[in-house]
Amino acid sequence: MKILRAPRSMAAWGERLRREGVTIGFVPTMGALHDGHRSLIRAARLRCDALVVSIFVNPTQFGPNEDLTRYPRPITHDRALCRAEGVDVCFEPTPNAMYPKGFQTIVMVPEIAQQLWEGAARPHHFVGVATVVTKLFGIVRPHLALFGQKDYQQATLIKRLVTDLNLGVTIDVRPTIREKDGLAMSSRNRYLSPDDRQAATILYRAFRAGRQAIEEGIKNASTVERIMRKTVAQEPTAHVEYLALCDPASLEPLKQVQRQILLLGAIRIGKVRLIDNMLTGC
Ligand code: AMP
Repeated sequence: MKILRAPRSMAAWGERLRREGVTIGFVPTMGALHDGHRSLIRAARLRCDALVVSIFVNPTQFGPNEDLTRYPRPITHDRALCRAEGVDVCFEPTPNAMYPKGFQTIVMVPEIAQQLWEGAARPHHFVGVATVVTKLFGIVRPHLALFGQKDYQQATLIKRLVTDLNLGVTIDVRPTIREKDGLAMSSRNRYLSPDDRQAATILYRAFRAGRQAIEEGIKNASTVERIMRKTVAQEPTAHVEYLALCDPASLEPLKQVQRQILLLGAIRIGKVRLIDNMLTGC
């Protein structure tokens, strides 16, 4: 496995393979890789000739009081995982290489990035994500890129920007990988104390309660939301930021249950913020 740090070397590698007709798969990550990342890497490995994983803790997608400096960076472990999964290139640019002096362009997807859910809660976040992903696509020039349903709004934003900017990358969104007790895997789960780790399954349990209510025929979205909130209230350390029934395409909140529904939520346990979602329907 090659480890490339300079965007120029990464671009040259991709360009050469593209010219030879090789299909390039790409999994962008911030590292601290777990089985959720591994499932994206495996799915990409099956569908492409060459596979690039980027590991870049992107500073522009963190707000001023967020966890940029303490975000985990277990690079030896991450490289070993990539090597074991048959990754061809691990792309590990530095912040300076990605944002050199004079850098000023941003990519903005206004509705998804700033009006809804994560976008409203973290106004800088998706501008950072959209910009870095556009930049990474420009460097790697993949045919296929894989993202996790775990970050549903992020995947929606990326599909939007790829369509709007004619980037010519196929986007594949893969199911969320969970721990045995239902907690969605996340690099941030390691911040949870043992007690908080127990409590953290409450978000998944709330979605299950919501799904059950829908399956039992409840039609009013706010009734289902109330049921989900009541479930979260069983854990005194958990605080709801939002919990909603949304349209899976537009992410707009629903008033009534419809054929396909996205249950979307963010909770806080202590200082740790957890997001998750579940697709369901009736
Ligand atoms: P991150 O390193 O957190 O930026 O995530 C990199 C990619 O892995 C994103 O496309 C995430 O949506 C995806 N991902 C993160 N957690 C999971 C999970 N539990 N299951 C599936 N994909 C995930």
